[in-house]
Amino acid sequence: MSTDLEAALRILREGCGDRVRTRVPLAPLTTFRVGGAAALYLEPEREEDLATVRRAVGETAIPFTIIGKGSNVLVSDEGFPGLVLRLGKGYRWAARDQDEVRAGAAMPLPALAGVALRHGLSGLEFGVAIPATLGGAVTMNAGAHDGQIGDIVRRIEIYRVGDGQAVSLPAEAAAFSYRRSALPEDAIVTAATLALRPGPPDAIRASMERARAWRRRTQPLAEPNCGSVFKNPPGGHAAAMIETAELKGTLVGGAAVSTKHANFIVAGPEATATDVLALIRLIQERVRRSAGVELEPEVRLVGRFDGDAA
Ligand SMILES: Cc1cc2nc3c(=O)[nH]c(=O)nc-3n(C[C@H](O)[C@H](O)[C@H](O)COP(=O)(O)OP(=O)(O)OC[C@H]3O[C@@H](n4cnc5c(N)ncnc54)[C@H](O)[C@@H]3O)c2cc1C
Repeated sequence: MSTDLEAALRILREGCGDRVRTRVPLAPLTTFRVGGAAALYLEPEREEDLATVRRAVGETAIPFTIIGKGSNVLVSDEGFPGLVLRLGKGYRWAARDQDEVRAGAAMPLPALAGVALRHGLSGLEFGVAIPATLGGAVTMNAGAHDGQIGDIVRRIEIYRVGDGQAVSLPAEAAAFSYRRSALPEDAIVTAATLALRPGPPDAIRASMERARAWRRRTQPLAEPNCGSVFKNPPGGHAAAMIETAELKGTLVGGAAVSTKHANFIVAGPEATATDVLALIRLIQERVRRSAGVELEPEVRLVGRFDGDAA
């Protein structure tokens, strides 16, 4: 272990004890189920833990990153050479106040959709089958079925690892756009408030059931994947372009373009992150040739690939 990692580990152990772990496999913490280990790993439970993280990162040169449900990340086979955070149970809560629901960032989106349903609040039906945490959904501006989280977020609470400030921002500060938010690089989303509207529970439940059934019908949910690999280019559909390029079923090592949904890559038991990235690049190259379009990955790379950190 490098001197910086050892120094960071010492600081983290002072504040968080043996909850800080070393060499933690990340594959089981992602929906792709590939990739290596985190050099250091912590599940922060409260703001004091984040303050300890701030010290550990600030006083050393180690990189850090945060994952939610790991449903939109591809972790390098080399793992992550610094500190990986994943908010713990202390950030898994939800509270209703009239037509608003405020929740911790570790709250799973489907569970939060269930909370909204129980309170007869409509607006989060689109999220019932997105396997995200609220923090990951806000960061990615997750959406489906013509809805996206950015449309219903009212406030976002963040902790800035750079200066240790905990601030509550209006939604506009995130400048939400398609599968993107513009929160500061060092921001950890700790909570968010959603503005919903009263609605008949039967209609909310039916809409959620339709969303679940649509996914079962159209997505390869039984195999490890990260949802849509590419963003839809302006005015087009990535899946249609990949299908037209006759790439469905194409294999690189243990990774394959899903035969059920062309914008999904499924990772077989022998797949590596290197296979997945090689397949991503192959798809980009073929679609560039066949459609003249540069597909932009939606999936986020974690760790070093081909020598470059992502
Ligand atoms: C089967 C399947 C279906 C999917 N369907 C959809 C869909 O319909 N629509 C859609 O938009 N997405 C979909 N996705 C992709 C994914 O669920 C979303 O991108 C989701 O928002 C990722 O949330 P997460 O908690 O898993 O974040 P992760 O994948 O763990 O992280 C994603 C990014 O968010 C950052 N992040 C996570 N938590 C925090 C936090 N608390 N603070 C700051 N940054 C954070 C991470 O650093 C990373 O850059 C699907 C994925 C799967 C596997």
